[in-house]
Amino acid sequence: MSAIDTLPPLREVIAKHQLSARKSLGQNFLLDLNLTAKIARQAGDLSQCDVLEIGPGPGGLTRGLLAEGARKVVAVEKDTRCIAALQEIATAYPGRLEVINGDALKIDPLEHLTPPIRVAANLPYNVGTELLVRWLTPPEWPPFWQSLTLMFQREVAERIVALPGTKAYGRLAILAQWRAEARIAMSLPPGAFTPPPKVSSAVVHLTAQPEPRFPADAGILSRVVAAAFNQRRKMLRASLKGLAPDIEDRLTAAGIKPTDRAEQISLEAFCALAREIEKT
Ligand code: SAM
Repeated sequence: MSAIDTLPPLREVIAKHQLSARKSLGQNFLLDLNLTAKIARQAGDLSQCDVLEIGPGPGGLTRGLLAEGARKVVAVEKDTRCIAALQEIATAYPGRLEVINGDALKIDPLEHLTPPIRVAANLPYNVGTELLVRWLTPPEWPPFWQSLTLMFQREVAERIVALPGTKAYGRLAILAQWRAEARIAMSLPPGAFTPPPKVSSAVVHLTAQPEPRFPADAGILSRVVAAAFNQRRKMLRASLKGLAPDIEDRLTAAGIKPTDRAEQISLEAFCALAREIEKT
């Protein structure tokens, strides 16, 4: 019998530990272990990796990650009620699960995990986006993670993988695609969760690239993209005029028409513009 078979069904775990879902913590649990195993498989080969899981809740995805052979899982959960339930999983997998009762926004992953590190999470939407932006903009590249496998609202997932010329294309797409490869790995209907959220969800898988796709200074690119998409309906010569007095010339030098709008500009062209702006 494998370790996972010795653990009770998640509904029993929830009843035993009185884990009624709390809206304030964005709790929509995954109770189908076939589904959590499938999500864990999207994270790739875990056998040589430590896995950081954020928001394990009652531990459905945690079980999937361990059963998929993760070398070690470090699970960070804010809700103290879940900790005893997670400790039962740790007992079934001796030495392979470390449970941290804390806020994912406040921990330093490298204090707890050894590279190579993969990240997997089914997180509340607001925390997920904040962490994703943070993980995509570290002071140094490559980042601490090799891959991120994260659940988002379908609409946010589409913004991460969006291409130019679409409504979903914006800052998140540029951040995600500049130094990572991003794809939607799975779609999930509201009914996959307990309780069901109002909207559909999707799992996004991001793989860190060793080098940026196109050269650019991270800080300048970030400022250009933020200014361009903050006023996405304006022509770039207007939305970017605060970045350089001769912005029209710099746009032209980067191969961009000053009358274009942010939505039309490829990642490559944004990087070319960041390089032009960097020139004194
Ligand atoms: N992973 C579990 C599953 O799939 O069933 C639970 C998912 S539920 C959407 C999100 C989980 O994240 C909850 O258990 C919640 O308590 C936890 N959480 C919310 N904010 C958090 C934070 N800042 N740091 C760590 N965990 C957090």
